[in-house]
Amino acid sequence: MAASGEPGRQKQEEVAAVVVVGSCMTDLVSLTSRLPKTGETIHGHKFFIGFGGKGANQCVQAARLGAKTSMVCKVGKDSFGNNYIENLKQNGISTEFAYQTEDAATGTASIIVNEEGQNIIVIVAGANLLLNSDDLRGAAGAVSSARVVICQLEVTPAASLEALTLARSRGVKTLFNPAPAAADLDPRFYALSDVFCCNESEAEILTGLPVSSPADAGKAALVLVGRGCQVVIITLGAEGCVMLSQSEPVPKYIPTEKVKAVDTTGAGDSFVGALAFYLAYYPSLSMEEMLRRSNFIAAVSVQAAGTQSSYPHRKDLPLHLF
Ligand code: ADP
Repeated sequence: MAASGEPGRQKQEEVAAVVVVGSCMTDLVSLTSRLPKTGETIHGHKFFIGFGGKGANQCVQAARLGAKTSMVCKVGKDSFGNNYIENLKQNGISTEFAYQTEDAATGTASIIVNEEGQNIIVIVAGANLLLNSDDLRGAAGAVSSARVVICQLEVTPAASLEALTLARSRGVKTLFNPAPAAADLDPRFYALSDVFCCNESEAEILTGLPVSSPADAGKAALVLVGRGCQVVIITLGAEGCVMLSQSEPVPKYIPTEKVKAVDTTGAGDSFVGALAFYLAYYPSLSMEEMLRRSNFIAAVSVQAAGTQSSYPHRKDLPLHLF
């Protein structure tokens, strides 16, 4: 299948095909044999600092697959912020709209991962919540000339809504990941989503329905499509994902090959970043095929520790994905 526009190495002056308006978080990761109980102190066996935040994670995964990308975000004027901007550059992502502020610290995520790859996470969003309308006006040209714009909910809902509204008004495809989810999600998000992609627990929060099987996910997806998104995708961990669209309102289950998970942190972001890459560069593929490939890429990411550190590069992936 021929690509529309050759994905390749990022140059700052080139137009970004995938623009992410979203978060950057510094991950403070402790590896332990088990998760601590309330009030309990336990010893972990390893600590490392990583780069995370749903927005940047998705952007990094798209960039590593060969997408030209730009990150619209805000970090603190602190060492974590400086290091984060350097990390984006190292991944070939344009940092023209990566703003720095003295008014808040760079966002952090304190993460504990046990030997089964399960995790608990505390986020302090900090500078992410200061990304504002002025910043978005500065990045309006990049948003308007993208092929795909991705938003999540780790910056303010107002910033995400503004970015999605602009993208939609310019005919740019919108990919919205309602994470972390809240039951009272502003209904405008549904109508502004060309593709609405969430995981099982987010689907449960948004619909109030239990989601623990592909059949459940199909029912939840019907509810979400009913709220106005064009396509709904619900990811199901090792089970793959389910999709449903306005044009074909029958749920489709796209299973994936099960792998032994080392660390599932950020699997959903790998999936969303991969999906954005396919939407931008292989628009003639069926959605089902894009999801099969995104499943594959996210499955690679769960087989290594860390978040971005586990995301595969194009050169390490089978040719049939491109
Ligand atoms: P999140 O990270 O948001 O909780 P999921 O757990 O649903 O998201 O994972 C996202 C995607 O990652 C899944 O749809 C699947 O493609 C892939 N994935 C996650 N865990 C596994 C696993 N154990 N084996 C294979 N693929 C996995």
